[in-house]
Amino acid sequence: MLRDNLNEVETRVARACLRAGRSRDEVLLIAVSKTKPVEMIEEIYQEGVRDFGENHPQEIRDKFPQLPADVRWHMIGHLQTNKVKYVIERACMIHSVESIRLAEMISSAAVSHDLVMPVLVEVNMAREESKYGIMPEETESFIREIAAFPGIHVNGLMTIAPYTENAEDNRVYFRNMKKLSVDIAEKNIDNVDMCDLSMGMTGDYEIAIEEGATMVRVGTGIFGMRDYSK
Ligand SMILES: *Cc1c(COP(=O)(O)O)cnc(C)c1O
Repeated sequence: MLRDNLNEVETRVARACLRAGRSRDEVLLIAVSKTKPVEMIEEIYQEGVRDFGENHPQEIRDKFPQLPADVRWHMIGHLQTNKVKYVIERACMIHSVESIRLAEMISSAAVSHDLVMPVLVEVNMAREESKYGIMPEETESFIREIAAFPGIHVNGLMTIAPYTENAEDNRVYFRNMKKLSVDIAEKNIDNVDMCDLSMGMTGDYEIAIEEGATMVRVGTGIFGMRDYSK
């Protein structure tokens, strides 16, 4: 059953790439496994998926030793500075950098573990009050500020688009993200590569791909609805 879900998502990703004239390998499908048990993750792993997304640092810490070492864990949710320690040696990328202090903490933890953590800057493109993220017009100066930190490497941008019944509503935000990413790339800031654009979730990943996403984060579409009551 999970395999059918995955096949369906995979087909839609491939079709969106085709529509956009993009190659399928330009887009990484991240299976968002938050709240889901290890057995379900293993099922998707068996199908060849290696990239999984979690939004709680403790969940990465706890699941990490229970899955094969070649799993790439993406930290996609809000990260408090005191929880950086749970993900620093376990995550392959942190998608949700949205404060100088957090970038600083990640950098110093990385330096003390002798590694460089790839990070994305979370942008609040739709200016939602409920959301974390840097305002679009402040993103470049934010990046200039954190780019010098030795323990991180800025790999691009991430956004969480608004919840909507109509995915087309989000196209404008994805398009503006791509524009922002290109604008910043043209500045050639040291230690900054605008190669990744993490955007699109179950409701809107096809549109995000059409607008230039290089990473889509799909949870419900692969694992089914989440149960937060437990
Ligand atoms: C939960 C989550 C997702 C996946 O959401 P779905 O709608 O289930 O695909 C993607 N990105 C972030 C940051 C999330 O927290």
